[in-house]
Amino acid sequence: MINLVLFGPPGAGKGTQSERIVEKYGLIHLSTGDVFRANMKEETELGKLAKQYISKGELVPDEVTINMLKEEVLKHKNPKGFIFDGFPRTAKQAKALDIFMEEIGSEVSQMISLDVEKEELKKRLAKRAIDSGREDDADPEIIENRIKVYQAETAPVMEYYDKQGKWTKVDGIGEIDEITERLFEVIDKLIK
Ligand code: ADP
Repeated sequence: MINLVLFGPPGAGKGTQSERIVEKYGLIHLSTGDVFRANMKEETELGKLAKQYISKGELVPDEVTINMLKEEVLKHKNPKGFIFDGFPRTAKQAKALDIFMEEIGSEVSQMISLDVEKEELKKRLAKRAIDSGREDDADPEIIENRIKVYQAETAPVMEYYDKQGKWTKVDGIGEIDEITERLFEVIDKLIK
């Protein structure tokens, strides 16, 4: 199995690039944000709980997120591998993922982070708000909080993978196709 963590701040382009990686490598895309949004739409218990946090630009508690992710992974029989998008977002989630992957006889192959600076992120999120209808993209204060939470809680996850020699940084500024090429180059090397 090849398991990638696609990492980056809100608006870095993880969703867009994940689609392309899925197409080329046949991996399963697992976006915690997408799963939460689907649950919010269906008004499940998980969705109601997640909404309380997401609407404020905060993280959903680790326990809840970790359990959900494990369930999602276990839904797939004989997967070629996964792209984790939006997970892990805290050091605790990263540790939990390592333990879980080991339990299922696998591991995280590489964490690839998309590097995009703050002003560009704000521009992208404001633009996405228009077509996605996402509540958490529409309010500049919520966006600001998400970026703050990213810096405080999520950025340390890079260090976590760096210590394991599993962190690759990719420039997330430029044409979408260009960035895809940069990612493919990294993944091709991992596969060989
Ligand atoms: P973005 O990367 O643009 O912030 P996501 O779709 O990945 O968007 O996530 C949307 C929201 O869902 C986050 O702001 C957070 O509240 C919640 N969320 C997603 N993934 C996690 C996670 N791993 N841990 C905690 N909360 C999460």
